[in-house]
Amino acid sequence: MKTAFDKRKYQEDAVQALFELWDAGQKPLLVSPAGSGKTVILAKAVKEIVEVRDHMACVLVLVHTESILKQTRDTFLACGIDPELIGILKAGVEGDAVAQIQIASVQTMSRRKVRPASGYVLFDEAHHIASCSWAAIAKDYPRARLAGFTATPERLDGKSLKEFYSTLYEVAKKSELEREGRLVPPEVFTWEKGVSLDGVRSVRGDYNNGELSKAMNRPNLIGDAVDHYKRRAKGKRAVVFCVSILHAEATVAAFVAGGVKAEIAHGGMNTRARDKLLGAGGRLSKGETKVVVTCQLVSEGWDLPKLECVVMMRPTKSRSLFEQQVGRGARAWGKKTSYTVLDHAGNYRRLDVGLGVDPVYSLEEGYENRGDGKCPTKVCRTSWCGMLLPISVQVCPTCGFEFDMRTKEMIVAEGELVRMRAAAEADMEVCIARIIWAGIPPEEAKAEAARVIAGRYAGYV
Ligand SMILES: [Zn+2]
Repeated sequence: MKTAFDKRKYQEDAVQALFELWDAGQKPLLVSPAGSGKTVILAKAVKEIVEVRDHMACVLVLVHTESILKQTRDTFLACGIDPELIGILKAGVEGDAVAQIQIASVQTMSRRKVRPASGYVLFDEAHHIASCSWAAIAKDYPRARLAGFTATPERLDGKSLKEFYSTLYEVAKKSELEREGRLVPPEVFTWEKGVSLDGVRSVRGDYNNGELSKAMNRPNLIGDAVDHYKRRAKGKRAVVFCVSILHAEATVAAFVAGGVKAEIAHGGMNTRARDKLLGAGGRLSKGETKVVVTCQLVSEGWDLPKLECVVMMRPTKSRSLFEQQVGRGARAWGKKTSYTVLDHAGNYRRLDVGLGVDPVYSLEEGYENRGDGKCPTKVCRTSWCGMLLPISVQVCPTCGFEFDMRTKEMIVAEGELVRMRAAAEADMEVCIARIIWAGIPPEEAKAEAARVIAGRYAGYV
């Protein structure tokens, strides 16, 4: 059966590679960036098993949460898998015990003593495998062909996945997917110093949630996030990642008070309520709600290509969590050529994330912080801009701030103070216009421009 997914060559390649790795006795971890169709690759692998390689084989597909079960099944059907072959194992449902393909949530599987017989065990969101229940399930299938699928090959606590997988296969690079027009790059705004997290302790490789919530749940920080959204991303569909429910509630209230249509999405929502807000035909998609505030609910297994902005208010030390969150906005859609990231958490600087370069993965370390291929960054210095730029950029594309002093050097070479002043005045006008364009109220723009120009021509005017 021909489907819309057939054109994706890298997905076919990944499926072939998977079988070659299995034939060689490997337990592969397939890394596929957010937005690259990870579940489609999973579906194609399953289809290949039951239709081509091994008609009698039973396949067990494990997903992280029950909310992903239906999505996974839908993708399997869209890829042309016979619905009669698919059984669902979840709480309160007997399921079709004889179905050849079982899709199960990990919670359900770890509660049930009886395991379906399976020659193939495929873990979706495979970076969770190290949690006890995942590991226990994997141990019950010593003879099965095992593989993991993930966008972020690092456990949330930063530990290695090496004890569960034997090799890592990179399905596609972000840059390739961007060139193909499947993903769009982020336009990042961040803050050089980031937020002060003095006194917030670390637990299992990331910040203590309670202490972090206190540090972030401050009216000025939340107010800043609302201001920046209105200035940088007004009217765009956004998701805001918070630390705790309390933090999320305060944040949603501030957005609403600021005249932005905002709603909270939390773990207690049932599938129907969730769909009505976050689904393809939901309020966020339709633009009835512009901003959805959440803790971790939508950082995985949720895709809305129409999303145009990600606001990070949850500082993290986990590159994996960071990538899960930031990746939500990366799907291409319509005329979207980039998406906006407002990093109030200072995550880009803390995690030293390069711009416009592909992350380098390893099974041992998850994300390798290797020097090669890494692009150092700097933050635009005008107080109101904060755009994250590659170190080589000389003029900020957003506000026009000039990092090198070319203007100054040129004028000094001419040695004419009068011309210098004229140049500064001309620059001043351009600068004011740019500042107003960037969303600063006109009454503040002049003073801000004066500061920029004073810096640019320091000692010469
Ligand atoms: Zn700038």
